[in-house]
Amino acid sequence: MFCSNCGAEVSEKAVVCVKCGVSLKNEFVQPVQQTVRLAIAGLAISLLGLIEIILITAGIFASIK
Ligand SMILES: [Zn+2]
Repeated sequence: MFCSNCGAEVSEKAVVCVKCGVSLKNEFVQPVQQTVRLAIAGLAISLLGLIEIILITAGIFASIK
């Protein structure tokens, strides 16, 4: 078979292209990576929201004093 990225001829059993290193099991690997990325992005957003809440709360307490 041929690499979908660079067009190099690769083994049928190859998991990644030997020339460009792209994953050849796209339909299986990519959704997992995307799920992980989405989970990390969601975690980062919720962490940012949490930090914002902490900063706002700290600001309120600072203004009271
Ligand atoms: Zn390739």
